[in-house]
Order: sequence, then structure tokens, then C-alpha cells
Amino acid sequence: MDDGIDYGRYEEGRSVNYWSLDRTLQRELRRTYADEEFEWAEPRLEAFGETVGHTIADNADYVDDHGPELEPYDKHGEVQNFVRYPAEQFENERLAYEAGIVADSFQVPPGRDEPMPLSHNLAMQYLLCYADPGFDCPVAMTAGAALVLEKFGDESLEPYLKALTSRDYDDLIEGAMFLTEKQGGSDVGANETRAEYDHDAECWRLYGEKWFCSNVDAEGTLALARAEDAPDGTDGLSMFLVPHADPEKTGDPVTKGDLLEDGPLAPDEVNDQLYRRLKDKLGTISVPTGEVEFTGAKAILVGEEENGFRQMAEMLNLERLSNAAASCGIMGRVLLESKIYAANREAFGKSIDQHPLMRADLVDMAVDHEAAAMYVFEAARLLSKRERAKRTAEDGDEADDVYRLMRLLIPIAKLRTARMAVDTASYGMEVHGGNGYVNDFVTNPMLRDAQVLPIWEGTENVLSLDVLRALEREDAHEPLQEVIEGRLESISHPVLAETVETVESEYHDLMGALATLVGEDDEYAQLSAKRLAHYIFDVFTAALLLDRAQEGLENGNGRTALVAVRFVANELEYPESRGITDGERFALEAFDSIVRYAPVDPERLSKVDGVGNASDRIRGDRR
Ligand SMILES: Cc1cc2nc3c(=O)[nH]c(=O)nc-3n(C[C@H](O)[C@H](O)[C@H](O)COP(=O)(O)OP(=O)(O)OC[C@H]3O[C@@H](n4cnc5c(N)ncnc54)[C@H](O)[C@@H]3O)c2cc1C
Repeated sequence: MDDGIDYGRYEEGRSVNYWSLDRTLQRELRRTYADEEFEWAEPRLEAFGETVGHTIADNADYVDDHGPELEPYDKHGEVQNFVRYPAEQFENERLAYEAGIVADSFQVPPGRDEPMPLSHNLAMQYLLCYADPGFDCPVAMTAGAALVLEKFGDESLEPYLKALTSRDYDDLIEGAMFLTEKQGGSDVGANETRAEYDHDAECWRLYGEKWFCSNVDAEGTLALARAEDAPDGTDGLSMFLVPHADPEKTGDPVTKGDLLEDGPLAPDEVNDQLYRRLKDKLGTISVPTGEVEFTGAKAILVGEEENGFRQMAEMLNLERLSNAAASCGIMGRVLLESKIYAANREAFGKSIDQHPLMRADLVDMAVDHEAAAMYVFEAARLLSKRERAKRTAEDGDEADDVYRLMRLLIPIAKLRTARMAVDTASYGMEVHGGNGYVNDFVTNPMLRDAQVLPIWEGTENVLSLDVLRALEREDAHEPLQEVIEGRLESISHPVLAETVETVESEYHDLMGALATLVGEDDEYAQLSAKRLAHYIFDVFTAALLLDRAQEGLENGNGRTALVAVRFVANELEYPESRGITDGERFALEAFDSIVRYAPVDPERLSKVDGVGNASDRIRGDRR
């Protein structure tokens, strides 16, 4: 009988297979991929988990200390915009892209007759973030740029789309997105970059400054700019592809292979822009984030003029879910390190994971990770479904409902999981005691990297306002209601009855809150937006967890039921005296199952303190 993972046999979360050790991810993908997709993907994810756990993690450590450097000018003072990367970074890029991290979701991979869903790209990003969340940023933007070109690009952009989705590293280009300007990050409509059509050169040229440009030297950069006479605000923005190299001089896109072979561009091949400097950042060292001045950079219009912001919103959906997948990956790594450290470190005569408070800490970190992963891959499933329906033009009412729900779930996924990643990374540092604060331990770069997740791709406040927009414009509460009610109605196992009751009651309160907000003025609605976003996450995730718990019970394993019960107790119950007087010892009894993935016989569940027996407990003699 499987009695769970013995973390004490590992020294640290290094030189291990991150896929094999992350049973949460395995279960979520088994649930959200079609059977044949999972069958195809499993050995590949296992191989990728091994690569990330070994070579990519080793290289990432080196790159964190020796990040990319910018050499904006050559020795003659000519602009060359050259970013120098360590060889370790190139090796990581080759390993990840050639494993299909982007290609598999856009091109038909070997052994299949159609591309994998976008959720596969997100799953691989999740695994990559066990080692290098900084490098995940270019990966996410490469996939995002490919998605936009696939949807809106014309034939002039085909060579760029092909190169963005190349499985062969030498033929690859990466993507980037330049939105933020000094006066406008959240407020994208304040963008001042100008686009002018150059009739002599027969191309668009951009003028202006971008203030935060990650993966600054990408050949597949998408930027927003305003053409002459275009309206103010986001409605007047158009989208352009602005290559690193001057497209007229180089002809084809300049690929990774070209740069590796030839080094910096010749001065006359440099596009008309200046990479002024790289930001000196807290974390995400492996991605160079620069300031860029467009001085007439040649640019290719993507899609229709003045449709740029709407097109960028499509990219943002994927970027925000990438951010959420990255958050889950960071949580997964920190949790793994914490479990291993706590199983090995002794204090007061026993390993620290035998002390009750540490048991509760690890249980709650594991429950958070599991809740986050479950939510994110459900949102990823919806995004994949919608994109596949678009690709195959089998649109319709169902795709519309999927879109409305996804439109609501994605900003929430990003805002909540980013916060959870920071909290987990911060607490994981504490689990490691003083060592956790030292750069030799991965908890240090993980916290530095996690800290950007709530900021880029939209801050928590800005995303909360987006949630209000999704509710107002898409009536997204309708598909939300349908999904939550459907899930709760399908749960029949008696051991879950009490938890279902709590979630149902909170669900009704949430719907009441939504109805109240509709009648309130905008100012009041904004004040409540963040709490509302978190509330939707809690209720939706609880319903999802219960659904999985029911399935687990039917298959003879009560483990997910324990996770569901704990999640609901932590997020949706308000115990008297903060629970101090209720005598509950759940974390001690559920530790092996939740933290070490040991299966639990459903028959035993009702004996676990806190599962379906809250009233007994309060009346009982345990106190
Ligand atoms: C490492 C790093 C890399 C980045 N890479 C890129 C990149 O590649 N491309 C790119 O385009 N951008 C990039 N960014 C920029 C990032 O997306 C922005 O910094 C972010 O969106 C916030 O915008 P801002 O900096 O202008 O802050 P502001 O918009 O000035 O926000 C400041 C504060 O005000 C709050 N706020 C703003 N509006 C409201 C409101 N209406 N209600 C309530 N609160 C509000 C925000 O929540 C925030 O707390 C990067 C940033 C970092 C740190």
C-alpha cells in the first residue's frame, strides 16, 4: 500500500524529478487533459521534470548570480543593443524550447495529429518555475505573441509566427510585450508612443519611450502605439511587431541560431531604437528588463489599426494565466523544499515536522498549493477549450459561456495565486530558519522572484477592477452560478455534507453580495472589488475541491476530501474564539495524507477530527 512520499530520504529539492514528486500537478492534468492528451504528455512531462530538476536548476543558480548584461553601444559608439547572456542561459533556453514548451501548443508535435491545448504550455511553465521563474517570462511572452499572431497576423507576419513556435532552437525567436510607459503602466490608455507611416520606406515607424521591457532584445516584440489622429485612450492604440533587428536589412527574422553564430548585429542591421539600460531588479534576474527609446523603429502592423488594446487583451489572458501557473510552480518548489527541510532538520529532539505547529504550517501550505493549482488548471482548461473552438471555427453558445466564465476566472487566478506565491515563499523561508534567508538556499531567489508576480501583468487592485468589468460587461455571474451550483448538487457523500452546507451558505451570500453591488455606485463597487475577487476564488475553489473530493471518495481515496475540508475551514468558516476553543486536531491527523500524499480509506474519514463532525467535536470530550 502506498503510504506517501518519504521526504526524509531527500537532502533538498534538487537533482530530483519535479514532475514525479508533484502529485498535485499530475492529478490536475489527468483531470483537465483529454485521456489521449494525457497519455501523450505524461512521459514528456516526466522527462521535462527531470531536466528542470537537474540541468535547468543548476544553470538557473548560475544565471541568478551572473545575469544578462547590456552593451548598448559598440566600441565606435554606434548603437548595437547587444544583450550578453551567460552560456548557461542559452542551454536552458535550448532545453525548454526543444522540449516543446511553446511549440507543442501551436504546431503538431511528433506522435500527434493536432497541437496540444494551451494548458500544456502552462503545465510546462509551471514545472520550469520550480527552477527559473525569470526565464519563464520570455517563455510566456513567446507563447502570448504566437497566440496574437495566429489570431490577427497577416502573411507578412507568418515568418515571425513560424519562428516563435519553432521546436528547433536555432530557428527560434522569442516574444515580448512593450506596454508600460513612464506615465502609464496600469493606465495603458495614457500611452504616448507614436506610430507614423513612412511612405518612402513603406513601413510604420515608432517614436517614444517604453519604461519596462522584459526580454528587451526579443525579435518578436509586440508594442502598442498611437497613429496620428487616432483617438485618446485605449481605443486609439494599434499593435505593432517591432523586431530587434531592422527587418528590411535582415530580411528574415533574426533567430537565436543567427545570434549565437554571428554575435551582435552590425550597426546598420540594428532597428531604430536604443536599449538605454537594464533595470537593477530584486529578482527574475534571468530576464533582462530594459528601458527602450524608439527613434523611428521599423514596425509591422498587427491586425487592424486601433484594435491594438483588444488584441493585447487576448495576449494578456494567456500572460495572466502564465503568471498564475508560475505562482503555482514557485509554491510547488518552496513546498517541496520545506517538506524536505522539515523532515530532516531536528529541534528539541525530533524532526521539526513532528512538532504540531509545523505540521499545521505544512498542511496549510499544501492545501494552498493544491487549491491554487486546481483553480489555475480549471481556468486553463476553459481557455484551451475556447481557443480550440476558435481555431476550428466551431464557435457557438457553449464557447460563448466558456469565454464569459474564463474572462472572470483569469484575473482572479492571477491576483490570488500571486499573493499565495509570495506568502508561501515568505513562509517557506521561515521554515528553513536562518538558512532560508541566505542566498545559498533557493528560498531566497524564490521569494525575490515571487515578489514580482503580484505586480506585472496587472496589480491586485487593477485586476480587481477587471473583475468588476467582467461581471458588468459579460454578465459573467451567470456561467459562474451554473458551474458552482452544478458542482455542489453533484456531491452526495455523507462525509462531505457539513462542508457542502458551509459552501452553499457562502455561495448564497456571495450571490447576495453581487446583487447588492449591481445597485451601488461605482465608487462603492470599487471599494469592494478586491474582497469580491477573493470571495469568488474561495467559493469557486471550494466547489471544485468538493467535486474532486467526491470523485476521490468514489475511487476509494479520501485524501482530497481532507484538502477540501481544510480549505473550507480556513477560507470560509469563522470559528468562535478563532478556533482556539474548538478542540480540533485536524492538522495532526491529516498530516501524512495531505503533506505526504498518503491515501486515506474513506471509511476512516469520519474519525478524522474536523471532518463532518464539527458539532460532535464542540460537544465532545476532546477538550
Ligand atoms: C520586473 C518587471 C518587469 C516588467 N516587464 C514589463 C514588460 O515586459 N512589459 C510591460 O509592458 N510592462 C512590464 N512591467 C511593468 C508592469 O506591468 C507595471 O509596473 C504594472 O502594470 C504597474 O504599472 P505601474 O508601474 O505604472 O504602476 P501604477 O499604475 O502607477 O500603479 C501604482 C499603484 O497604484 C495602484 N493603482 C493604479 N490604478 C489604480 C486604480 N484605478 N485603483 C486602485 N489602485 C490603482 C496599483 O495597484 C499600484 O499599487 C514590468 C514590471 C516589472 C517590475
